[in-house]
Amino acid sequence: MPFPQTAWIWKDGALIPWDDARIHVLSHVVQYGSSVFEGVRCYRTPEGPSLFRVQAHVQRLLASCRVYRMTPPHDAQALVRACIDVVRRNGLDEGYLRPVTLRGLGAPGIHGEDSPLETYVACWPWGRYLGDDAVERGADACVSSWRRAAPDTFPLLAKAGGHYLSAQLMKAEAIANGYSEAIALSVDGLVSEGTAENLFLVQDGTLITPSIDGSMLPGITRDCVLTVARDFGVPVAEKRVPREALYTADEVFLSGTAAEITPIRSVDRVPVGDGSVGPITRLVQQRYLGIARGTLEDPWGWRTLVDPAMAVAV
Ligand code: PMP
Repeated sequence: MPFPQTAWIWKDGALIPWDDARIHVLSHVVQYGSSVFEGVRCYRTPEGPSLFRVQAHVQRLLASCRVYRMTPPHDAQALVRACIDVVRRNGLDEGYLRPVTLRGLGAPGIHGEDSPLETYVACWPWGRYLGDDAVERGADACVSSWRRAAPDTFPLLAKAGGHYLSAQLMKAEAIANGYSEAIALSVDGLVSEGTAENLFLVQDGTLITPSIDGSMLPGITRDCVLTVARDFGVPVAEKRVPREALYTADEVFLSGTAAEITPIRSVDRVPVGDGSVGPITRLVQQRYLGIARGTLEDPWGWRTLVDPAMAVAV
């Protein structure tokens, strides 16, 4: 599928044409994977396009920068503004945004300090990450033979480009074996997360998710799921999850900005529950999407309107 391109990309304070957003082949990021990035969704709502949890994404981008000792010349407010501006200028009413800070062309060695930082925010129309069918009926997942990195190898609270080499191996293995997504174990053999999603399971009415243990990204959608579940009065537990819990759970689902709330209907070909989407998954999914799409009230202030003048009948 060709990249669904738009006209403009924000670069360090200015909007530039899509084709001009180029870097040198010898940029530090190309040699060594030195980028930190975010994925943000924009939803079509009755009041116009709305960014979902953009402040939290921008905060995480700046946190990732700190971990990698990057100091871009933009504060959170400027980055939120950049996200709004790029969506507005492109006339995008629904899609995905990719803010990224990277080390450009500087010195040839590994030490990053001599390679100048560049920050971009791009956006494009993007449908459901794992497909419409997966969101409605569930995806088939496998447990990956690749593990997540140990906490003292890569700082996995940061969302850095280089970390995704491991996710690419997991994804490629899953697809080659006929699955649509992989679930990774941590270095101690417990359940960690998907390649770009956090993981939840439901056992006897309790919503369970692996606790943040340095093996996974603390997802913003994960936080939404926990918030919404608690609000519904669903008992919630963040704890260590052994692999076999995936085979005995009543429900399993993934959470992520791109994947939204995607039910898992089988793990390693073992059906989850009776193989259909479970009630707690559905409850959380409908509330999440309802808030994102502006059909439900936004009690936690998760939506940021891009431009009320862009409201269209939905
Ligand atoms: N884990 C990884 C490795 C991810 O790439 C993502 C996507 N950003 C997530 C979890 C989910 O995070 P979020 O809900 O913030 O999109």
